Amino acid sequence: MTDCIFCRIVRGEAPCGKIYEDDRVLSFLDIGPINPGHTLVIPKAHYATLFEAAPEDLCACIAVAEKIAVAVFGAMGAGGLNLLQNNLRPAGQRVDHIHFHLIPRHVGDGFFPNWPAKSYGPGEMEKVLERIKARL
Ligand code: AMP
Ligand code: ZN
Repeated sequence: MTDCIFCRIVRGEAPCGKIYEDDRVLSFLDIGPINPGHTLVIPKAHYATLFEAAPEDLCACIAVAEKIAVAVFGAMGAGGLNLLQNNLRPAGQRVDHIHFHLIPRHVGDGFFPNWPAKSYGPGEMEKVLERIKARL
């Protein structure tokens, strides 16, 4: 896509702090890091979200993400690391080219700790299961 910032980075038309590149995948530093070393892994092909992405590109991204996660974790002296992937605005997606965040974490860094867990009412879990499985 011509006006997609991540496609422009893939084509070399916009700068990035490149970490890794192969035929399918590109990885670079996030310019607005939650913590230093916050890294993005993207397929070179343009897909807006997880829902459209080709399995081959997703698999390639995850394989690369695993290697880079180990490097980021070690290099930043992190105590933990989040792999995060947002889809659509209600989930916090701002760039409409699928990307995986690798976020090195430190105790007390102020990013989300654990979310406030809800619970299922009586029979609700079974209904949810039925609705999801009916679409597979
Ligand atoms: P999301 O909210 O999951 O869509 O995250 C988009 C991420 O892309 C944000 O963390 C931004 O800081 C990051 N970002 C946006 N533009 C660029 C860019 N040109 N280079 C690197 N990271 C970017
Ligand atoms: Zn794109």
